[in-house]
Amino acid sequence: MRIKVLGSSGGVARGYRTTSFLIDDDLLIDAGTGVQEMDIDDMVNIRHIFLTHSHFDHIAALPLLADTVFDKIPAPIEVYGLAETIGALREHVFNNVLWPDFTRIPNRENPVFRLNEIDRGSVHQVCGRSIEMIPVQHIVPGVGYRVESAGKAFAFSGDTASNDSFWEALNRHEMLDLLFVESAFPNANCELSKRSGHYCPDTLAADLKKLRHSPRICISHPKPGEESIILEECREAIIGHKIEGLVGNEHFAL
Ligand SMILES: [Zn+2]
Ligand SMILES: [Zn+2]
Repeated sequence: MRIKVLGSSGGVARGYRTTSFLIDDDLLIDAGTGVQEMDIDDMVNIRHIFLTHSHFDHIAALPLLADTVFDKIPAPIEVYGLAETIGALREHVFNNVLWPDFTRIPNRENPVFRLNEIDRGSVHQVCGRSIEMIPVQHIVPGVGYRVESAGKAFAFSGDTASNDSFWEALNRHEMLDLLFVESAFPNANCELSKRSGHYCPDTLAADLKKLRHSPRICISHPKPGEESIILEECREAIIGHKIEGLVGNEHFAL
């Protein structure tokens, strides 16, 4: 399994893109502004998009992706998310006000996007990869994902504050090789992080004690410009793990 970080920042500026990870050539986890790092030819290969939640930084590229690929894709792109996430897309994005309804364009039978509601805890087989949707704790309904392929496993927390469900789900499996987990703010903003449904380094360190695996750990979703302090504080607070920061354009092969 190959994983490319298209974007992992909490905001945008030159060189900063929001959350999107490309798995192999055909599957995205989240569709934030990182998607614009892809060439058109590569975008055409996207067949599946698994969304963590409805927040704009995780879906921002979906509407414009539709405009780029609508006449080039061989079949509808399958988009998966919680019922609440899919409902938000239908009501607030593809509503013919904010953006045309690309679940009906070019036509109902063969649209650009097919929206699929999936359940917390469900596992989906997609071209040899097993993808588990894991509930987390955010200010809108949110999930993380665990992706297993050829005996290797990768997990992403999505946006979350302290919770048990994510860690319990990961512990139910025998292994975990790579973990992307968020810390949106430094410790100075720990109260804000709790109120907005995110981790700060101290709350993340406390939750990581629940994990029985020792994966490679990469911190995602830092507030732009605060990557260094967040990473420094994570390294200080999290004992027994080597901690790296994601800035975008990293490649992983499992
Ligand atoms: Zn969010
Ligand atoms: Zn976010």
